[in-house]
Amino acid sequence: MTDPAEALAAAFRVTVGRDPEGVFSAPGRVNLIGEHTDHNEGHVLPFAIDRRCRVAAGHRDDDVVTVRSAQAPDAPVTTTLDALHRARGWSAYALGTLWALREEGPAGAGWDLVVAGDVPLGAGLSSSAALECAVALAVAELSGADLDRPPFDRPPFDRPPFDRAALARAGRRAENDVVGAPVGIMDQAASLLCREGSALLLDCRTLEARDVALGLEDRGLVTLVVDTRVRHDLADGGYADRRAACVAAAAALGVPALRDATPEMLDVLDDDLRRRARHVVTEQARVHRVVEHLRAGRPADVGPELTASHASLRDDFEVSVPALDAVVETACGHGALGARLIGGGFGGSVLVLAPVDAVGEITEAVTRRAAADGHPEPVTRAVHPAAGARRER
Ligand code: ADP
Ligand code: MG
Repeated sequence: MTDPAEALAAAFRVTVGRDPEGVFSAPGRVNLIGEHTDHNEGHVLPFAIDRRCRVAAGHRDDDVVTVRSAQAPDAPVTTTLDALHRARGWSAYALGTLWALREEGPAGAGWDLVVAGDVPLGAGLSSSAALECAVALAVAELSGADLDRPPFDRPPFDRPPFDRAALARAGRRAENDVVGAPVGIMDQAASLLCREGSALLLDCRTLEARDVALGLEDRGLVTLVVDTRVRHDLADGGYADRRAACVAAAAALGVPALRDATPEMLDVLDDDLRRRARHVVTEQARVHRVVEHLRAGRPADVGPELTASHASLRDDFEVSVPALDAVVETACGHGALGARLIGGGFGGSVLVLAPVDAVGEITEAVTRRAAADGHPEPVTRAVHPAAGARRER
């Protein structure tokens, strides 16, 4: 089998007509626990997965930028440096990242970029951050930034450009300001900062990040992501509504963000706001319990926390839908240790923690259940904790 980085270098040679200066890759991610805590300045616990986006890159000597992708097999997108922020469609993720980097860092001439990845698009595994982070690392390293001095720098997210934190911010800016998606920084931080076999405990207020070893494989455990392929029209409006409810609850409680609230404080809120806030407050506690279980070498104990997170997202935050509930219930009834919806809700995917030898039965059971309920056929994928963004050649 050809090495994917070599294959991409070869594709660059064919389409661009010279050798790339380097090939870089960045992974997708899954968030183990901490749902809707990010926009409340709380904690999340994502890990990078063994599916990556690769970018072969080379400088040009004019102000033109070209980008091609094997996942968008149309003509190359060609633009100029002063028009990067006007990019639309899939190329906005790549060109927007280049724009954001140039806003903060060294300028320089144009680029040729050739992309190929195996993070499924729109399946809740953050193919968008993988694309942004691979482009960011490529452009930064080929512009002379030395990002991989071991050990690469962690916390201070306030360094001048080109540490990995600055690359994460550039990816987020591309998504916020060029694509127009109001995402936080979790996906980019996970893609750039995670280490193989570990999750990243990220404080969304201070952006302080710590590794937490997962140790799943040693205990015969695996994580599955079940994409229900259900996506509700109200997803975007529902997400905005829940964010607004959290802001309103924090204001009513007189705290900067719900991260600062405690369970006892919530009694003064009216019923709806109280339940929204209770999800965030209890989810924060679950993140910390999951970290304790992992640090104590008890990854199986993470399962019930996932299922409790799902119940809270379903009953208190009210962002689940029947197709998600059916996957959680069915997986848990066929050997899973726990499961929860992941992402904003109203459709999307479920994360399942299971013993390796239950995977076949769980996969079949969720497929059967979806058919019986008249839901689309789900797609189940095992995901393994992998290394963050890196140079491939
Ligand atoms: P997710 O990040 O969960 O996969 P998003 O909707 O945030 O879903 O991002 C998916 C979009 O990102 C795709 O529709 C496409 O526009 C873009 N994208 C991601 N990876 C690639 C790629 N390898 N090639 C081209 N476009 C990509
Ligand atoms: Mg995305």
